[in-house]
Amino acid sequence: MNGALQFDVVGARGPRAYFERLTPRTLTHAYVFSGTEGVGKKTFARRLAQSLLCAAPKDGVLGYDGVCVSCTLFATGARHPDFIEHEGTLKIGESDAAAGFGAEDLTARDLVRQLSLASYSGGMRILLLGDLDFATHHAANALLKFFEEPPAGVLLLITTSAPSRLLPTIRSRAIEVRFPLLTCGEIAEILRRKGYDAKQTESGSQLGQGSAARAIAALEGEELSVRAQAARWFFEVVAGKTPEEEWATRETLSAGLETLKGLVRDWLAMRVAQAPPLYGDYARELNALPPLSPKRMSAILSRLDDAQHLARTNVNPAMASEIVRMALTGSASR
Ligand SMILES: [Zn+2]
Repeated sequence: MNGALQFDVVGARGPRAYFERLTPRTLTHAYVFSGTEGVGKKTFARRLAQSLLCAAPKDGVLGYDGVCVSCTLFATGARHPDFIEHEGTLKIGESDAAAGFGAEDLTARDLVRQLSLASYSGGMRILLLGDLDFATHHAANALLKFFEEPPAGVLLLITTSAPSRLLPTIRSRAIEVRFPLLTCGEIAEILRRKGYDAKQTESGSQLGQGSAARAIAALEGEELSVRAQAARWFFEVVAGKTPEEEWATRETLSAGLETLKGLVRDWLAMRVAQAPPLYGDYARELNALPPLSPKRMSAILSRLDDAQHLARTNVNPAMASEIVRMALTGSASR
């Protein structure tokens, strides 16, 4: 690969090495990218397409300059006339929409047409079928037409986490490239790029078990349960009960305090402004709370600010939660 060009993917070492050995001449017309969900198959396919459509000269197939007209389309997320990406169910379609296809549905007829159109720029045309689920065998058969007589200059990329569900006739006529699981370091890199902080990056890379999608799901799920725990604690404290479970740990402190703040704001807003709550899933519980004066609310919020401030230091989480508990029960509302 020309040193001035880039190919920005995380992981996918095997597939990268494989494509690095290819030239435009040895590239075949169809590849199936297989592997666990969230290991970078689609990202790799998009970067491969960008490489093939990039105007920068190169010997191999990988690498793009990031500045030509074609690359600009990729960078801005605009539609590239020679790169079509599909996801979803491929249905067998008639020209009239009598079968009830929505405008978004890709019909077999559309696909056949897209596969046979000439390139807009005079170069290649690339179709990416991501995790396509073939509604019927007829739909899949539409693809066979392509394989029987592949039009020159068209590259078909299919990504799937279940290659065994592809028709054997498709599988046997495409080259399968297997994507390995991501390493912890690679997942961490992806999470960092997505804006997760150092702590989340660290725990996500462990929870992901090789998949960035799994890591993100685990992180989001974790946040949800902190929210639920903090909310349960909040309603118990306001009702004058002793909470059954403490929510505050070093990991959950900042997310939990954010939840409590939102609930306090909703508490007042629902009564004063009849505004829809931010925490709509707790509307019933919020409505059942005793009235809250604006003065008391600002006292509670100011103690929450104190707790958030402490949370950024090395405070004992239980102490931060105690400050909030006292404010909520009125013992610190002077
Ligand atoms: Zn370019």
